[in-house]
Amino acid sequence: MATVKAVRFYGQRNLKIEEIAPQTCGPFDVRVKVAFCGICGSDIHEYLGGPILTPKLGSKDPHTGLQLPVTLGHEISGEVVEVGPAVTTVAVGQRCAINPSVDDRHHGTDPCRTCRLGKPNLCKRWACYGLSAPGGGFSDEIVVHSASIVPIPDSVPLRVAALCEPLAVACHMIRVSGFQPGDSILVLGAGPIGLALLLLLKVRGAGQVFVSEISPSRAEKARQFGADAVIDPTNDSMGEGGDVVVSFVQRKTEDGVDVSFDATGIQATLDTAIAATRAGGTIFNVAIHEKPLLINPNALTLTEKKYMGGLCYTSEDFAVVVEALASGKLRAEEMITAVVPLRNAIEGAFEELINNKDNHIKIIVHPN
Ligand SMILES: [Zn+2]
Repeated sequence: MATVKAVRFYGQRNLKIEEIAPQTCGPFDVRVKVAFCGICGSDIHEYLGGPILTPKLGSKDPHTGLQLPVTLGHEISGEVVEVGPAVTTVAVGQRCAINPSVDDRHHGTDPCRTCRLGKPNLCKRWACYGLSAPGGGFSDEIVVHSASIVPIPDSVPLRVAALCEPLAVACHMIRVSGFQPGDSILVLGAGPIGLALLLLLKVRGAGQVFVSEISPSRAEKARQFGADAVIDPTNDSMGEGGDVVVSFVQRKTEDGVDVSFDATGIQATLDTAIAATRAGGTIFNVAIHEKPLLINPNALTLTEKKYMGGLCYTSEDFAVVVEALASGKLRAEEMITAVVPLRNAIEGAFEELINNKDNHIKIIVHPN
């Protein structure tokens, strides 16, 4: 029987590239030949400190039954090569990205209340291909439910389509934040999600977008990606004392930005985000926190500021991203800083991203 190559996670610092049996394609499933798969911060977190979202050693994911080892990779583009007998919405040959979120549609159960409310990204039985559901994108192929297929028009290269997932994350955060065209924005942190936010905010008609970033190479990328100003929070060149980002924002806006996105997630960026946002504005957390932070609710109560967060995306977010890519307005290809063959994924993608983080935005892996 033919085998497929896959990068499999066995536990902390334990990845293996193996030849494994192909997955079964069930009645509602489709088989996708992977073209490209991006590596995400959560893949690195699993590798360095996992299992986190992957199943614990010796136990199964409660919703999918998945056990270690897990094929990683959830930022996937490719082409449909097989469809199950009950699939009517997707045909062989379809170019696609994959929405890796698994919800009640995938489990074949009645939708939970959250799913019925149109928020399958928050399903109580949520899982994710490449982490907690079977199959991943660091492989020659993956089998997914037909509902996970995001059609990609011929005008969008499949290497760019692999960016749909991180772009959909940014799109979702912007959409649920209450952002309106013309709003002034502060983005704290110019990593992959911060830069994706910046690109999409500009496409969606943001007013001034300010970025706070310490790393000179990331700050330069933020300028290239259209930031109106990039502020180094550690550089008090005007000798003002206090928070230089807040001072800068207050000089450039009437009374603070409309929305701030914290894509760093430390106490200093949370404090800055709250202080730099106008009364009645929104502080939106995009970061994952390893420990709790302090917040004085008075900072929200006395000014009616809103503090909120968001998770993943829905199919609506993928649709917005694909349309923006197809229109040519969303120039996301510059996010790709390396393309690495699957056989070299551990050294060329995982270790490279850990050791040379500042040189990269997005590394994508391609099988062959
Ligand atoms: Zn649900």
